[in-house]
Amino acid sequence: MLMLVCPYCGVTAEETEFAPGGEAHLSRVGPDGSDEAFEAYLFARANPKGVHLERWRHAYGCGKWFLAARCTATLEVFGTYPAQSKGPPPAVLDRIADRRGAGAAARVGRGAPDAS
Ligand SMILES: [Zn+2]
Repeated sequence: MLMLVCPYCGVTAEETEFAPGGEAHLSRVGPDGSDEAFEAYLFARANPKGVHLERWRHAYGCGKWFLAARCTATLEVFGTYPAQSKGPPPAVLDRIADRRGAGAAARVGRGAPDAS
């Protein structure tokens, strides 16, 4: 069972209370972007077996979007954080490093230091 904590209202609930929104931290392609970059933005998504950063909405609660770091194989949640973050906060990256190794934390945290 996947249990998530909404970072806004603090509610811990099963995934049925939330709605998935796909991969987190996607960068939009501007009008000067290439066709290949726009196609990749629209259709190409990571589908790792392991740590993945995702968008979720607290559909049956406060209604706000947030981001979660979780393992797609075991459903282990490493943390949730506000949707406005540029990357996972250091506490979430530390938790990933402790449980899955520094390589996994570096893979999801590369180039995306938390700005919040
Ligand atoms: Zn909420």
